Amino acid sequence: AKDAGGGTYATYHPSMHDALASRIELATDLRLALERDEFVVHYQPNVDLRTGEITGFEALVRWNHPTRGMVPPLEFIGVAESTGLIVPLGRWVLTEACRQAVAWNRPLKMAVNVSVRQFEDDDLTGMVAAVLTETGMPPQQLCLEMTESVLLTDTDENLSRILGLKALGVLLAMDDFGTGYSSLAYLRRFPMDVLKIDRSFVDRLGGETEDEALVRTIVRLGQRFGMSTVAEGIENETQLAVLQEMGCDTAQGYLLSRPVPAADATALLERNTPF
Ligand code: C2E
Ligand code: CA
Ligand code: CA
Ligand code: CA
Repeated sequence: AKDAGGGTYATYHPSMHDALASRIELATDLRLALERDEFVVHYQPNVDLRTGEITGFEALVRWNHPTRGMVPPLEFIGVAESTGLIVPLGRWVLTEACRQAVAWNRPLKMAVNVSVRQFEDDDLTGMVAAVLTETGMPPQQLCLEMTESVLLTDTDENLSRILGLKALGVLLAMDDFGTGYSSLAYLRRFPMDVLKIDRSFVDRLGGETEDEALVRTIVRLGQRFGMSTVAEGIENETQLAVLQEMGCDTAQGYLLSRPVPAADATALLERNTPF
């Protein structure tokens, strides 16, 4: 739990055994955690694959639980979504990430995750606009990451939401690209700026030729449609070299850095040593 870099994590163990009861307990605890300011944002660098320089960060929320230690998002995002707490929590994360980006005062991109529940919230665009104003964040430095699932239902309404966000001047990224539904038609319909190649494909680079062909195809697709490509989950030099050779734009992964607290991210920026 002491590893700020995120290597070791506490598991959230509710005291009740019944699954529903423990979800309710977690829901209550999360609401209190937000009031008590127990959430923290860690930042994982995005690195330019040509120059090796840090070009931005992805903001990733953690729950710094007073007794259990650092709880990873996969243990609470689901419940936060189903209870709607993700809406105020998401606003908090966005505000925190924008404040940090403004404090760094460099032309860095800040990527923030937006879940389906947030996306479907009526006032997402208004909320993002308010946070940009409140923090003084230049919209073109903010990149909202969403998964393919936000584009599946009620297409016209979702399209107008997407266009509303675009009108603010922010960038939009398709997260976990390739893991969702196989229809690529939405790439024509929705103005995405960034494709994030899912870790599961990056994992298998450097051996299986089929996975390599798949990633190469995604990179080309990005180039063809004018979207930049980010490969997530890079853990070794082989993956890095393969992605570089393919012309993928940006890299993110433990090889370069784990998600780290803001102060450590500042130190990384000050070194900013190309690989
Ligand atoms: P994601 O958006 O796909 O974020 C990337 C996840 O991959 C992060 O996990 C990151 O720590 C991890 N990762 C990065 N590089 C590597 C690597 O080289 N190897 C491995 N094994 N993992 C790597 P994390 O921080 O635990 O977040 C998990 C998920 O929780 C995120 O997946 C995202 O879906 C969600 N999440 C995190 N923060 C937020 C948030 O503020 N809002 C919302 N709505 N969801 C969030
Ligand atoms: Ca993400
Ligand atoms: Ca992702
Ligand atoms: Ca993922």
